[in-house]
Amino acid sequence: MKRQHIHTLAVHAGVKKGNNKDIIQPIHLSTTFERNEDGSTGEYIYTRAENPNRIAVEQKIASIEEAKTAITFASGMAAINALFNTLLEPNCHLIIPDDCYHGTRQLLNTFFKRWNVTSTMIDMTTASNIEEAIQSNTKLIWIETPSNPQLKITDLEAVISIAKKHNLLTVCDNTFATPILQKTINIGIDYVMYSSTKFFSGHSDILGGIILTNKENEISESIRTYQKMAGAVPAPFDCWLLNRSLATFPLRFKAQCDNAMVIASFLNTHAAIEKVFFPGLTSHENHTIAKKQMQHGFGTIVSILVKGNQENALRFTNKLQIFKHATSLGGVESLVEHRRSVEGTNPISPENLIRLSIGIEYIDDLLFDLKQALE
Ligand SMILES: *Cc1c(COP(=O)(O)O)cnc(C)c1O
Repeated sequence: MKRQHIHTLAVHAGVKKGNNKDIIQPIHLSTTFERNEDGSTGEYIYTRAENPNRIAVEQKIASIEEAKTAITFASGMAAINALFNTLLEPNCHLIIPDDCYHGTRQLLNTFFKRWNVTSTMIDMTTASNIEEAIQSNTKLIWIETPSNPQLKITDLEAVISIAKKHNLLTVCDNTFATPILQKTINIGIDYVMYSSTKFFSGHSDILGGIILTNKENEISESIRTYQKMAGAVPAPFDCWLLNRSLATFPLRFKAQCDNAMVIASFLNTHAAIEKVFFPGLTSHENHTIAKKQMQHGFGTIVSILVKGNQENALRFTNKLQIFKHATSLGGVESLVEHRRSVEGTNPISPENLIRLSIGIEYIDDLLFDLKQALE
């Protein structure tokens, strides 16, 4: 059959209809499944190992990404932890971006310190920095593009060719771009991971994480085993909700990207703004690479430096009416966040940096809100 468009797959892929000819897959809450008379098991045994709703959502996401395997977790952090547990080994080294998700950094600096795992943080926008950081025990290059919160862009093809040359594994945290803007496995990334809490869920009501790969080998087997044994699996209800959310994900995401482009352009010329970080702007340092490797848009996250100090930044945040001041991103509702306040010990964001997550509200209402808050 002809390969279906992502909009069609998002609605139909993976969904297994119930016995009553339901249009929507029922929720299978049962933690355990009856055995056959001879003691053998049927398709399902125990929900930590496998559940029909989890299989459905894994198949849907795999088809959207055009990947062979999708493995879901209870959160993005659980997926990152699974990758570290299965790809790293004691005394190894990895290269991470200096603008890396703070949870990823903290996981390395706490629990993986005990394995004597070391990491070098580099500015990955210059790919040659990677070669300089490679050590004899380097195993893995961790990529995040666009990065959080400064929306830096890493040239994926350049990193992949360096990784191949030095026989290193690559992981891309593709949470911000999603498979709509950037299909990283197709171009040679080994493992792509998502916090499905963000755009896939899209309604700020489900936590989740996903790892996808095209490599069906002992590593992907061990990630699957880690999912079942470490047990940070998503609940059946969360899988069911995620399946439902994914149906509208391409439409929501497109509307959010369109809104973000207009908002970034508006803020870019506003007198109260010192700087706008958005890869869709021609003024963005890495716009050329962003244009080369991203399709259909540049994402829905816009970071800004408000003129002045932390106080000015927080005043702007608190004056906003439609944008709610909360962490996280990717939902239908617009959010605003002062990053430095949430980055814990060793924050990396400037004190006047504000991150906006653009929702699907009507663009003129969002612009009006930003205008009045910047007055
Ligand atoms: C939110 C996020 C994570 C962590 O995901 P959780 O679902 O919160 O555990 C990892 N990477 C990025 C880029 C994120 O935005």
